[in-house]
Amino acid sequence: MDLRKHLIAGNWKMNGTLDSINEILKIDQLCNGYEVDIALCVPNTIISKTNEAISHKKLVIGAQNCHHDESGAYTGDVSAKMLKDAGAKIIIVGHSERRQAYKETNEIVNKKAVSIIKSDLQTIICIGETEEEKNMGLTNKIVCTQLENSMPSISDENNTVIAYEPIWAIGTGRIPSIREIEVVHKELRSLVSKIKGKDIANKMRILYGGSVKANNAKDIFDLDDVDGALVGGASLNSEEFMGIINVC
Ligand code: PEP
Repeated sequence: MDLRKHLIAGNWKMNGTLDSINEILKIDQLCNGYEVDIALCVPNTIISKTNEAISHKKLVIGAQNCHHDESGAYTGDVSAKMLKDAGAKIIIVGHSERRQAYKETNEIVNKKAVSIIKSDLQTIICIGETEEEKNMGLTNKIVCTQLENSMPSISDENNTVIAYEPIWAIGTGRIPSIREIEVVHKELRSLVSKIKGKDIANKMRILYGGSVKANNAKDIFDLDDVDGALVGGASLNSEEFMGIINVC
């Protein structure tokens, strides 16, 4: 029996205005009836309007980051509670673009994940190695350290999704070999098992992310320990995104 329903989550990054809701509505219509879970993490500025416009049959709307506190003197930031208020159901944390550009550490990512879970939302915790680390044979060590320190003690299979995203594969059109993806996902599941126990590990979803397209998705999704994908560029276009969902 398959213990894990696949999740295809799109990350729109800093793309999209109110006009883009039309593209989201196409996805919303086309994705009904699919077995997989489907989410789109859109810019904060369009969460509320998008949430009002979608059918709420299959597609859920999410965000890409939050502050770890609920409220306070943090100019320009938004909390998980505020994103929930706007209609977000799932929030990405620890994306490599934030880890690199904003120096977000595992400890900060962990705190953000706690705030999301305490707001009764789901979180997608991203981890991944640089190309240099991969070339030094450090992939497993790096991603396991990130996971161990970024995943809160209150995480379980219902509130947390892991996304393995090799940094060098994001937006580059390059992906690891299928065998490399398999090895990392196995390693991550066995670490979750060590930390959380076998039952949670068997049910927690571990996504792959990094240049997923309809034409490379099948081999990735065929892997036992891959439970879907976090999709950047290809999620901006309804046809491309649906192409991946079709494969899944
Ligand atoms: C991402 O940014 O999370 C991502 C996976 O991007 P892309 O699919 O464009 O590589």
